[in-house]
Amino acid sequence: MATPLPIDLDALKAFLIGLLNIPSPTGFTDRAIDYVDRAFSGLSLEAHRTPKGALVVEWAGRPGVGARAPRALTAHVDTLGAMVKEVKENGRLKLTKIGGFAWNTVEGEGCTVYTASGEAVRGVLLVTKASGHIFAGETESMKRDDDGMEVRLDVRSNSGKETRALGVAVGDFVAFDPRVEAGPAGFIRSRHLDDKAGVACVYGAAKALLDAGEMPAQRTTYLFSHYEEVGHGAAAGIPADVVELLAVDMAAVGQGQASDEFSANICVKDSGGPYHLGMRHRLVELAEAAAIPYRLDIYPYYGSDGEAYWRAGGDVRVGLVGPGVDASHNYERTHEESLKATAQLVAEYIRTV
Ligand SMILES: [Zn+2]
Repeated sequence: MATPLPIDLDALKAFLIGLLNIPSPTGFTDRAIDYVDRAFSGLSLEAHRTPKGALVVEWAGRPGVGARAPRALTAHVDTLGAMVKEVKENGRLKLTKIGGFAWNTVEGEGCTVYTASGEAVRGVLLVTKASGHIFAGETESMKRDDDGMEVRLDVRSNSGKETRALGVAVGDFVAFDPRVEAGPAGFIRSRHLDDKAGVACVYGAAKALLDAGEMPAQRTTYLFSHYEEVGHGAAAGIPADVVELLAVDMAAVGQGQASDEFSANICVKDSGGPYHLGMRHRLVELAEAAAIPYRLDIYPYYGSDGEAYWRAGGDVRVGLVGPGVDASHNYERTHEESLKATAQLVAEYIRTV
């Protein structure tokens, strides 16, 4: 039986917590991309940006194996978020969503509005009839839709004019607070573990190979995409000669799901149909050979950057693996055991011919 490479879990978690604390709704990801770039530079792996702004790390394969079957891995740094749709006459903000989520999952959450001049204005997302002393039952029963939600900024403003005078305008990005908490039991609770946990697993796998003095079996390209939540993240950025793409993205944990927060979860089918059977078999073989806990699962409402590349015409075998995330696109949670297992399986994939 093969021994999986040791994962530096402290480094993986520190990387993850740092990334979680950087706001990065789709379209506003430069700081997150910079952070990942610096982390890979710290591993002495050179990165470059695509014209679209994604981060690409190229890692040479082992001599003798070389360019026979180049591979790529992808994970995304962008997250759910919102944008200012309208500065309302009461001085508050109507939002439009970025990505797919329900408003009630961020109701009452602190948020930051990023203005064109670079100011960060704090506030909170509330229903428009928020006060229980004024609206009583209406607060509970009102519909959580674009018209029923608004941002109350922590500024002195009672009019659209006063809010606009602060530089807040239509098109400003809005990031919801991640509220990261890593407790002694090994759970990590935060928004946006989708897919920052996946990015951290890719980082942890790369560090594991380097710590062990190893190289990838094949030339391997890492693509850190930044438009996944809106469907076209990895549509571009993968070298044309790549024959396999492993997407590393969260696994949906919850009622009826086989995935959990303690394993490497291999997705066999999602909304886009089945993943490549050969890739699935290989991931299972690698997990079994190295005694890495794994699960096979199906996600009913889910798409990935692997499928984005397929739809863009990518002629590659695609697989998907990821850490288990409970209450995804909500206030999420995972466990360090799942991060470790996923990083180990990714490392086995990279180092095995
Ligand atoms: Zn994702």
